[in-house]
Amino acid sequence: MSVKEENLVITPKTEPRHVKLLVLGSGPAGLAAALYAARAELAPLLLTGTELGGQAALTFSIENYPGFPQGVGGADLGELFQKQAERFGAQVEFDTAYSVDLSTRPFKVVADSGELLSDALIVATGASPIHLNIPGETEQTGKGVSYCATCDGWFFKDKKVVVVGGGDSALEEGLFLTRYASSVTVFHRRDSLRAGAVLQKRALEHPKMKFVWNTVLTGIVGGEKTEAVRTRNLLTGEEGLFPTDGVFIFIGHTPNTQMFAGKLEMQDGYIKVDDHMNTSIPGVYAAGEAADSHFRQVVTSAGMGAAAAIEATHFLERETV
Ligand code: NAP
Repeated sequence: MSVKEENLVITPKTEPRHVKLLVLGSGPAGLAAALYAARAELAPLLLTGTELGGQAALTFSIENYPGFPQGVGGADLGELFQKQAERFGAQVEFDTAYSVDLSTRPFKVVADSGELLSDALIVATGASPIHLNIPGETEQTGKGVSYCATCDGWFFKDKKVVVVGGGDSALEEGLFLTRYASSVTVFHRRDSLRAGAVLQKRALEHPKMKFVWNTVLTGIVGGEKTEAVRTRNLLTGEEGLFPTDGVFIFIGHTPNTQMFAGKLEMQDGYIKVDDHMNTSIPGVYAAGEAADSHFRQVVTSAGMGAAAAIEATHFLERETV
C-alpha cells in the first residue's frame, strides 16, 4: 500500500516476515527438518536456495536410501520429501538467503524476497562441487566440462568422456555415463579407488569403463567444444594429451557456509555442531553437508535434519515458557 502526499509517493517499507522456524536449504537435511518441524506445529518456512532438492536431486538413482529396494531417482525423492513436509504445514519457497545476523534473537535473514525474522534457525545449505582449477576448466564449463552426469550425460551420446576422481561420486556418475557415452575413462591420481566395494566391482568390470591410474589433469583444451585434456603421470612425470568430448569432475565438495563465517564456529569450512545439532549459537542448528564432512549420505543428512528440528522444537518450547 502506498501513501500519496501531494506528488510524492511514499512506499512504506514492508515489515519483515516473522516465523518461528526458518530452514535454509532444500536437500534431504532441510526437507527432513521441515517435515519434523511441521509435525511439531511450528509452521516452518523453508527457503530452497538455488539448487532445488540439493545435490541428491542431481543423482540419477539413489540405491541406498532405506525403503526403496529398487532405488529411487534423486529428484523424485526430493519431491516426495517436499510433499510430505507440505502435507503437515511446512511452507517451501523458492528463495535464497544471502546474509544473516545471528547477534540477537529473533535472528535476521536477508533473502532475495526480503528480510525475515526467525526465532530459531536450521542451516542445511549443503555443499558444492570442488573444481580442479586448471587452465581451460572455467572456459570449457558448459562446452564439455560438467560436474553433473545426470544433468549433462545425455549430451554425450556416442561420445568419449573423461571422469576425474576415485570416490563413490566418480564411479556412480561414471557408470551412469555409460548409458550414453561410447567410452568413459576415469583418471585417478592414485592406483587404488576410494569408492565402496560394490561400485568398484561394477565400474572395474564394465566394458565401457577404462581407468588411467596415478594421473592428473593439468589442462582442458577446446574452443566451442572440448577436444582434449592435458595429463601428467605422477609417477613418471610423463605429460600427455588425451582426446575427449567431455570432462566430468567429481573430486569432492565444499560446504556452502560462507554466509556464516565469523558468525558460527566452523572447522575446515564446516559448521561445528554437537551431537544434538547445536551450533555455537543457541537456537541455531546445522544439519547435512554444511555440518558433516564425514558421512555425507542422503540418509545421514535426513537424520541430522530431523534431529535439528526436534532440538529446535525443544528450544522454542523452553523459550516460550
Ligand atoms: P570423495 O569421497 O572425497 O572422493 C573424491 C575423489 O577425488 C578421491 O578419489 C580423491 O582422490 C579425488 N580428488 C580430490 N581432489 C583431487 C584433485 N585435485 N585432483 C584429482 N583428484 C582429486 O568425494 P565423493 O566421491 O564426492 O563422495 C563424497 C561423499 O559422498 C563420500 O562420503 C561418499 O561415500 C558419499 N557418496 C556416496 C554415494 C553412495 O553411497 N551411493 C554416492 C556418491 C557420494 P584420493 O582418493 O586420492 O583422495
